[in-house]
Amino acid sequence: MSEVETFAFQAEIAQLMSLIINTFYSNKEIFLREIISNASDALDKIRYQSLTDPSVLEAEKELKIDLIPNKEAKTLTISDTGIGMTKADLVNNLGTIAKSGTKSFMEALQAGADISMIGQFGVGFYSAYLVADTVEVRSKHNDDEGYIWRSSAGGSFTIQVDEEGSVKRGTQIILHMKEDQLEYLEEKRIKEIVKKHSQFIGYPIKLHVEKEREVEVEDDEAETEEKKDEAAEGEDKPKIEEVEDDEESKDKAKKKVKETYMDEEELNKTKPIWTRNPDDISTDEYASFYKSLTNDWEDHLAVKHFSVEGQLEFRALLFIPKRAPMDMFESKKTKNNIKLYVRRVFIMDNCEDLIPEWLNFIRGVVDSEDLPLNISREMLQQSKILKVIRKNIVKKCLDLFSELSDDEENYKKFYEHFAKNLKLGVHEDSTNRKKLSDLLRFYTSKSDEDMISFKDYVGRMKENQKDIYFITGESKEAVANSTFVERVKARGFEVLYLIDPIDEYMINQLKEYDGKKLVSVTKEGLELPEDEEEKKKFEEDKAKYEQLCKVMKDILDKKVEKVTVSNRLVSSPGCIVTGQYGWSANMERIMKAQALRDATSMGYMAAKKHFEINPDHAIIKSLREKVEADENDKAVKDLVMLLFETALLTSGFSLQDPTTHASRIHRMIKLGLGIDEDDEATGAAAEDMPDLEEAEDDNGATEMEEVD
Ligand code: ADP
Ligand code: MG
Repeated sequence: MSEVETFAFQAEIAQLMSLIINTFYSNKEIFLREIISNASDALDKIRYQSLTDPSVLEAEKELKIDLIPNKEAKTLTISDTGIGMTKADLVNNLGTIAKSGTKSFMEALQAGADISMIGQFGVGFYSAYLVADTVEVRSKHNDDEGYIWRSSAGGSFTIQVDEEGSVKRGTQIILHMKEDQLEYLEEKRIKEIVKKHSQFIGYPIKLHVEKEREVEVEDDEAETEEKKDEAAEGEDKPKIEEVEDDEESKDKAKKKVKETYMDEEELNKTKPIWTRNPDDISTDEYASFYKSLTNDWEDHLAVKHFSVEGQLEFRALLFIPKRAPMDMFESKKTKNNIKLYVRRVFIMDNCEDLIPEWLNFIRGVVDSEDLPLNISREMLQQSKILKVIRKNIVKKCLDLFSELSDDEENYKKFYEHFAKNLKLGVHEDSTNRKKLSDLLRFYTSKSDEDMISFKDYVGRMKENQKDIYFITGESKEAVANSTFVERVKARGFEVLYLIDPIDEYMINQLKEYDGKKLVSVTKEGLELPEDEEEKKKFEEDKAKYEQLCKVMKDILDKKVEKVTVSNRLVSSPGCIVTGQYGWSANMERIMKAQALRDATSMGYMAAKKHFEINPDHAIIKSLREKVEADENDKAVKDLVMLLFETALLTSGFSLQDPTTHASRIHRMIKLGLGIDEDDEATGAAAEDMPDLEEAEDDNGATEMEEVD
């Protein structure tokens, strides 16, 4: 017998092992993923060596992983023909040199992390102790003899020479299963776990299953034994013999016996779809992969399958689903849905750094050749490789969208669900803003059935038109009838309707398209192309209405920034435009709807209002005459307030105090009906106590209903 050396586990590793053994975890199955992933790593290493030195494969040419359950011995053996470990490797890697991840993992566990994250901390091997009480590692490296490492935890492990020399090259992990973990020796369970966690491993994973069959043999003891031996070697041989049996059967007696034999089944036969040539993959195959990846019940809408080579190598398969997930913008938890693989080994699901948030509806797989296998999230954040991959993914997604836009019908479906994402992209991704803006579609004053692109718009701009006009608002109807678009429309210019709340944010970033300024028709400083005559008239109007504007500003006081003559109105007496850089009416509406916004920020950001009046409108004209006759006319104040409040409403604002507005209207109605103010006892009080008047009206209405 060779010498058995005993080693103490490094303190933190011993601690980790007892934590793994003593803490209750239900998700123990991940041990197999970890051991298989180590096997795959080891195979990667020898494969990599063999690229420059093929002789390293001499001892064992086949690169594979075997899973051998043995119910009698209650062991599960995971065997690989990878690089193997020398004695020093066994001592260092499996017990005496702690990685920084050991401690971090224990801390993470205490903080509520899941055991299944173990691999990311570089201590996946020890997950074997979730299911085994004793672990034996037989390993043979080309540079050393074979050794056996063995530990039943408890702070120590032993090392001895593997005298049987059972391993040619590579590693066998023999797990002596705990009594209550025998389920992992079941064929079905193993298959299930491998399918779930390791189906895309780049080496064949072969499950050895013990099978039983009945065979007819001659009634000859010696020969039966011989046959059993041969049967164990492979499935094909006995079959040939059976044929021979038939020939001999005429003169020999026969009997049926049961024999057991080992069958090998490759569990990950399907080559990862993304590693295949796109030309050989059918739409159906993509669809079934997409479904298995996402659990979606519908096929994907579009797919992009590509590889990048050169300084950096990766393959990716990206899908656009048909629908947006319900919770796309709701939950912080739903990150992107790209699975990251490194050389066919699954690394992680929600790799945030792989794809920007605005593309969080893209599903798929990225398989990098360059990243290290045991990469942690922290490392990924720093990784230059990942940054390059991310850039490429964004670019390919944009290509995919623009390909999709060639097919109008399909693009419509896509746009319906993911327009918000594109707009978020415009807001966030300055480098791709131009490309993204080409993907946007809007209803317009000239096209309220079909959405058009900026390109379409620019293509039909009027000769003298310099800017692109848009209006933001709540709905197509609201903006189509808005006072702001009156003149612009009347002059034959097209106005884009931006009726999605996110449009407000997006347009603030976009600012221009194809060198043409994006101009809001609801904001101050709208300049429509005008001829000399129009310009002259505008200047004259400004002078003519200077006094009225001043009087109005005095009356409205802090309610408005200023009162000016308008060039955008046709049939309305006035409108409220907002400052170039402040909120629009629509933005104010959106912000008010966000309940948690505190009042102080509202006050600060709230739309800066400019009251524009229509110099050609009869009301404004006669108001001017009234003011010119007597600046302090009693009726003027009320009229100006009324004009202002109605302009607020038609410009998309809400009234801060609708009851006061109502009482003004009521006074007008009384005037119209010839009711004398003084006759009404409550009349004078109405303005001061508008609530009362409102209440009275309400009561009146209810009473009447009751009478009915
Ligand atoms: P990680 O795989 O993240 O390095 P593990 O705890 O899973 O961490 O494995 C520890 C180390 O043990 C590996 O880095 C490797 O050096 C060695 N090892 C584990 N399994 C094998 C194997 N099957 N063949 C060769 N080396 C192995
Ligand atoms: Mg590992």
